[in-house]
Amino acid sequence: MKFGVNKSGEYRGRIAPTPTGLMHLGHAKTFLKAQTRARDASGTLILRVEDLDKERCKKEFTGSLIEDLRWAGLDWEEGPDIGGDCGPYRQSERDGVFRKAWNALIANGSVFPCKCSRKDVQESVTAPHESTGELIYPGTCRERAIGFESEESAGAMNWRFRVPDGEAIEFIDGNLGAQCFVAGRDFGDFLVWRKDGMPSYELAVVADDVAMGITEVVRGEDLLLSTARQILLYRSLGYEIPGYFHCPLVLDESGKRLAKRHKSLGLRELRERGADLGALLSVS
Ligand code: GLU
Repeated sequence: MKFGVNKSGEYRGRIAPTPTGLMHLGHAKTFLKAQTRARDASGTLILRVEDLDKERCKKEFTGSLIEDLRWAGLDWEEGPDIGGDCGPYRQSERDGVFRKAWNALIANGSVFPCKCSRKDVQESVTAPHESTGELIYPGTCRERAIGFESEESAGAMNWRFRVPDGEAIEFIDGNLGAQCFVAGRDFGDFLVWRKDGMPSYELAVVADDVAMGITEVVRGEDLLLSTARQILLYRSLGYEIPGYFHCPLVLDESGKRLAKRHKSLGLRELRERGADLGALLSVS
């Protein structure tokens, strides 16, 4: 398969913001790159709002997000019809897609139920991994048989993916070149399902990227390590792995990555100030 397209030669990309606050310059830069790559390949771009976290994802942020994306010059070609306009897909409305993927992982034995809380993991690990900063799951429940009676009771537990310890997960990033992360050393058994009945970020992204036929994932460099985990999910579910293109993060003047606290570089604030986004992006 040619890099970044499917068997029919089509390119399908997506932008996938999480509406936990207002978008900033860094998001605009990554999303515009995703748009350029889709346009250059005469492909399709999809907007997917990743609003699974009910507490942190506020409705008002999704509304302002769409206005801000439009102001930044973004346009997408596919999504549910909203009054004749192309709407975003919302992960909060796609529970069935995630449950199907989670059930497939249970059926093929690549996940296990886990009783450890975040605190348990923190307490049993002496120090986070020095380069990735990850807390590597110590394997407490890996081989432990934990019973459950029904899908309902199974859904009220944490489930982790059992990583192939010692295996190097390699991929070629379209922007950053060859990448390699070692399972069990750079990252450990990771959550796919949470006991509040929700998929983890890793599972939701892979299940949705598969369901939407995404052929290339363009996103921020902060998710590079997640790509290794997601490749394991693709492999386990038997799906074709997409191309990856990770964009450098925009930093502030002190070298820290932009966050929602950088109000002055928020798209809303820039729009209200009548800022020239193109000029700002060319220097950032
Ligand atoms: N929703 C994620 C974020 O805002 C991005 C997910 C992805 O592109 O895979 O960080």
